[in-house]
Amino acid sequence: MNLNKLTIDDVQTAIAARKTTAAALAVAFYEKIEKEDPQIGAYLTLSKERALDKATQIDSLVARGDQLPPLAGVPVGIKDVMVTRGVRSTAGSKILENYIPPYDCTAVARLEDAGAVILGKMNCDEFAMGSSNENSAYRPVHNPRVLSRVPGGSSGGSAAAVAAGMAVATLGSDTGGSIRQPASFCGVVGLMPTYGRISRYGLIAFASSLDHIGPLTRNVKDAATLLRTIAGRDPMDATSADLPVPDYVAELNMPVNGLRLGVAKEYFEQGLDSEVKAKVESAIQELAKQGCEIVPVSLPHTQYAIPTYYLVATAEASANLARFDGVRYGHRASNAGSLPEMYERSRDEGFGPEVKRRIMLGTYALSAGYYDAYYLKAQRVRTLLTRDFEDAFQKVDAIVTPTSPTTAFRLGEKIDDPVAMYLADIYTVTADLAGIPGISIPCGVTKENLPVGFQILGKHFDEATILRVAHSYEKSQSS
Ligand code: GLN
Repeated sequence: MNLNKLTIDDVQTAIAARKTTAAALAVAFYEKIEKEDPQIGAYLTLSKERALDKATQIDSLVARGDQLPPLAGVPVGIKDVMVTRGVRSTAGSKILENYIPPYDCTAVARLEDAGAVILGKMNCDEFAMGSSNENSAYRPVHNPRVLSRVPGGSSGGSAAAVAAGMAVATLGSDTGGSIRQPASFCGVVGLMPTYGRISRYGLIAFASSLDHIGPLTRNVKDAATLLRTIAGRDPMDATSADLPVPDYVAELNMPVNGLRLGVAKEYFEQGLDSEVKAKVESAIQELAKQGCEIVPVSLPHTQYAIPTYYLVATAEASANLARFDGVRYGHRASNAGSLPEMYERSRDEGFGPEVKRRIMLGTYALSAGYYDAYYLKAQRVRTLLTRDFEDAFQKVDAIVTPTSPTTAFRLGEKIDDPVAMYLADIYTVTADLAGIPGISIPCGVTKENLPVGFQILGKHFDEATILRVAHSYEKSQSS
């Protein structure tokens, strides 16, 4: 079996036909991980015992001829910002190096209840802060397509594992683009659902009003399957929406003919790489050929999105990360002379440079003298950005854009220039700020063999439409 190409459907068919067992499949993935992951660095922790227990359970259902759950035996990986009962969960940070959570993130529990086999925890930027995975406290991840390049971030391990065939699918998190941008850099599908569609219970918080969990997969159908499995109201997260979850998979094949797709000029201006632009434009043409109507729209506040995002996100992060004080969990400095010194040293030793930078920025933006000028202003601009989308969605059913202005850059290329790194998020942060869903799907590779991603943004809670458009485009590429 070619693990590099395996989809959820393939696993289901192979297990039901008894061509393989869930346990044999998990073992095959572990062998591949042990052989190939040293060069890539996608995994931080393997959860072999938990995986093999689950796989054995599935295999006994098969042996008894019982009905199989929808994800029976599907090997998946979980970004290390989601807590897993009994399995180390570090959030890519030294401060949680030895943290073993006593409970499961809801999304993880729902996957496992549906039969998925959790192979392990994926490398990521520390507390999901980054665009290249170079902020992981453990090691950077290499892009499996071209090893000298970054996989994107912060869900770099999640994207790289799917691209390299070291998991069939993974979960990532997206606060400013961290599912879609690495998906585009690694040539896989990455879906960020509407804010509130998937419970955040058990997601280690970065910026609570922006954080989303979502799937990274090899095709659009797998993304729809995972979304259907993990979406929906959860009493443990008051911000999870109490709305019915549509059957995304059943709706995938509805025709796209007649759908209106918006193209915003603000997303095709300076800074956009010419090869990326050409690939995205030809993807748009393909959708036009399939009967979509292409409609120019304007999102006039886009130029303010990066500063707005980096104020709101850092403000929320500075509050969320206050809980890491060396008392309740995580690293505690030894031999501190006083309580304040213990707090200070634990945080100093536990957090990396990017996390410290953001805590300082966020604390500053929230401080009494600057709150109105920075935080409040940013919240107001956030409303304007949200209204841009509301206005555009009066005229169109979805909006198509590049996912990122460039393809995967070289490891080390932007690490000393945080502002250049922040600018890489220009096309993704807007959807997080507005709370709308977005998907990145591959639309070819450049001359240097670097994948290009194409983003489709949708109306609140209308993941079905963006999945349908993505699926229709994907079909035209494989045929
Ligand atoms: N690159 C962005 C940041 O560093 C987005 C991160 C994310 O989505 N988690 O904040």
